[in-house]
Amino acid sequence: MTEKLYYADSHLWQFTATVLRCEKTQDAWALCLDRTAFFPEGGGQPADTGFIGPARVTDVQERDGEIWHLSQAPLEPGTEQSCRLDREQRLRRMQDHSGEHIVSGLVHKLHGLENVGFHMGEACMTVDFSGELSWEQLQKIETLANEAVRANVPVRAWFPEPEELEGLRYRSKLELTENVRLVEIEGIDLCACCAPHVERTGEIGLIKLLDAQRHRGGVRVELLCGMDAFDDYRLRQEEVTRVSRLLSAKRDEVPQAVERQLEAAARQKERADRLSLALVRLLAEQAGEGQENICLFDELLDEVAQRELVNLLTEKCSGLAAVFCAGEGEGLRYVIGSRRIDLRANARRINAGIGGRGGGSPTMIQGRATAEPEAIRRFIDAFIV
Ligand SMILES: [Zn+2]
Repeated sequence: MTEKLYYADSHLWQFTATVLRCEKTQDAWALCLDRTAFFPEGGGQPADTGFIGPARVTDVQERDGEIWHLSQAPLEPGTEQSCRLDREQRLRRMQDHSGEHIVSGLVHKLHGLENVGFHMGEACMTVDFSGELSWEQLQKIETLANEAVRANVPVRAWFPEPEELEGLRYRSKLELTENVRLVEIEGIDLCACCAPHVERTGEIGLIKLLDAQRHRGGVRVELLCGMDAFDDYRLRQEEVTRVSRLLSAKRDEVPQAVERQLEAAARQKERADRLSLALVRLLAEQAGEGQENICLFDELLDEVAQRELVNLLTEKCSGLAAVFCAGEGEGLRYVIGSRRIDLRANARRINAGIGGRGGGSPTMIQGRATAEPEAIRRFIDAFIV
């Protein structure tokens, strides 16, 4: 059994230990020490990283009481090594995890709901609760959780004797009876947990709930604590500042400025649609009466207006009514209509003539054409079935 230093002192960043074994794995080395402060992945908290001597530790796992450190280099068994954890990463995780215990403890206390799922991700943490909570209820929890941070109460972790454990009521995901480690946040929560925690709640600094969604009959809450919450606040503030500059609005007037922009955009769209319809009618009027085929090129029409123009042109000619528009992507966007020619049956021939790809119904086909405009015009003008 490896001596687990992280149980006695969650703030031990440097220590010395003797290498007991060093085994080659597929693409790394697994090191077993006589004692370690590296926390192995467990209880929803990822494994610590750092260094054992010169060897970089990328993962830590527990197997049958032994802690194995995955390293990029081998180390000689029997040698004593000075070891160093990635301190800030561990501190952040303890802030997040202890903050989660406060939130879960308060939800349990006030609403009788259980924490039934916990995940510490790169971007944020999620906690799943066994029943629904409104955003107002969660905001109340958030306020109380931050009061608990400011109260700076002690966080105590210990392995109680079976007799002591029997008399205690604590939160637990598993039905454990032996080797239960309890984490107590004074006056807030008592929970079975194997992970290292902060020593006092003040160390957490800040607890921020970000979002909540219905999840499997309960609610999934996204949250951040400590330095992660601070980083997120800084990022949000920078984003709001950027948006406020783009909108030429004060930071606290961004929502109203966005609403005004959206209203203005809707008015512009309505106006553009009306202009486009007028243009379509004008183009259709100008197109020659009694022609066999009509071929038009335009740079302004959107897809709806382009189809509308083709519909009007098919009434004016007996052959093909073809409209080609410049737009995003390669070549030209085409729509071709006809009231006499079966376009689906002729699609292959038309596409070959205009360097195109596309299809549709017997009365209308659409797609993209890559031939030169002059070649397209010659082909459409001369088209006969
Ligand atoms: Zn925990």
